[in-house]
Amino acid sequence: MNVVLTGFRGTGKTESGRLLARLLDVPFYDTDALVEEEAGATVHEIFEQEGEEGFRAREKRAIAGLPRGPGVFATGGGAVIDPENVEHLRRGRTVVLLNADESTIEKRIQHSTRPALTRMGLRAEIHALMESRRDVYLAAADYCIDTSARSANEVAIGIKRLLAEGVTKESGRREALRAFAGSGIHQSEAAELATMVKALSENPVLRFYGIAGYPSLHSRSPPLFRRLFSYFDINAYYTRFHDPALTRILGTARDLDVRGLSVTIPFKQEIMGHLDRMDAHCRAIGACNTVLFCGGEAHGYNTDWLGIRDPLASLRGSRAVVLGAGGAAAAAAYALRALEMEVTLLNRTVERAEALAERFGCYHGSLRDFGSIRPDVVVNATPVGMESDTASPLKKSDLAPGMTVFDLVYTPPETPLIRIARSAGCTAITGKEMFIRQARAQFRQFTGIDAPLEMIREFLG
Ligand code: NAP
Repeated sequence: MNVVLTGFRGTGKTESGRLLARLLDVPFYDTDALVEEEAGATVHEIFEQEGEEGFRAREKRAIAGLPRGPGVFATGGGAVIDPENVEHLRRGRTVVLLNADESTIEKRIQHSTRPALTRMGLRAEIHALMESRRDVYLAAADYCIDTSARSANEVAIGIKRLLAEGVTKESGRREALRAFAGSGIHQSEAAELATMVKALSENPVLRFYGIAGYPSLHSRSPPLFRRLFSYFDINAYYTRFHDPALTRILGTARDLDVRGLSVTIPFKQEIMGHLDRMDAHCRAIGACNTVLFCGGEAHGYNTDWLGIRDPLASLRGSRAVVLGAGGAAAAAAYALRALEMEVTLLNRTVERAEALAERFGCYHGSLRDFGSIRPDVVVNATPVGMESDTASPLKKSDLAPGMTVFDLVYTPPETPLIRIARSAGCTAITGKEMFIRQARAQFRQFTGIDAPLEMIREFLG
């Protein structure tokens, strides 16, 4: 048994952790205690003498040096903010996030001698830190448990049962397997999934993730995420939910107690009606491509826009044109506005461009207006050039050396537009780059770990 308890102060990590270790008959390690022992000073004294930075450096060393054998490990609340700590903590371990409501936390820690992290009052500090840390806590955990109305003993017993039995039921697992077998996914994938589902009887805390889309048979996310989970030694399996009905996918996801979903066409809008919380980017773009389930709640995120923003980050303040006015164009407009670019949306159906332009503070026009703009950056968010289509949305004479042309279409790897852009002396960015960056952000949201871009590039092949 190898389990990490994390969460905000006052959620009961240390007390429940100590009891759990006794129940499991394994050693208990508290990273704060290890830091104090190594420093020969209390956390309070370290904060006073070395500041939070000094404390975090010591905490990081303590986490990197934790023994690999069985144990219950409790970490300080801020530890999982650092993706490198999460990487160390997660390897071969199950991470349980302990939650509690703000007033319970306040009651539990009001007499604590631990240093405050801000100059706010206690209640305001709890609220602000919980709001700012919620998403990183969620990302770093396999399971979430609310400890507000439970004693430390009840929490420890609950975690012991969770580790021994997991959450899924035999009937739900059978139902899920039936759904996968009839979904049209490749036989070898269905067989591998069946093996993983059966493995739940010996490995009940194996977590499932997957892509929800229709079609999703050609998505490269399953092999990529499987390799990432395996590389980082995370007890998880990533599969494919290929079904035209999102409600059926969500039913199967519940049966398998799925931890996270990548969401793709045609469900990026529909999924928003099934979320308990969503981040500000989903709300602004009007689409969600990443869902995390924790403690019975569904949390939605959008990482698509990061896939467009990050490769263009050095071009802040440029003049840009986006071709198209659909979902990808919305993510592009949002990303480019975040880079303070002046953006014009050009679309076949001008009314759609106008509506989108109004939402994001952009100019708009028809595709014929391109020649009058002379942009620094062009983003193609139409499907023109995709696979059997040999067309390009722009001619070579539309482009000029020095322009950056980003084609979001990623099949084929070199689209007609990318070919034309290269021959015109432009910097060409392919749709694969968007996929890689959004997948990296999605893996971070799924696990709290930062996978290097080069690793994702290599794993995608
Ligand atoms: P969408 O919502 O269906 O929007 C498609 C847009 O393209 C619409 O504005 C449409 O114009 C325009 N369009 C379609 N066919 C056209 C044509 N023959 N000539 C000119 N304009 C045309 O699709 P989406 O979800 O935004 O996706 C668009 C493309 O982005 C996809 O095909 C995909 O290749 C790419 N994408 C890439 C990634 C990645 O990770 N690299 C992620 C998402 C999407 P009307 O309004 O006039 O119909």
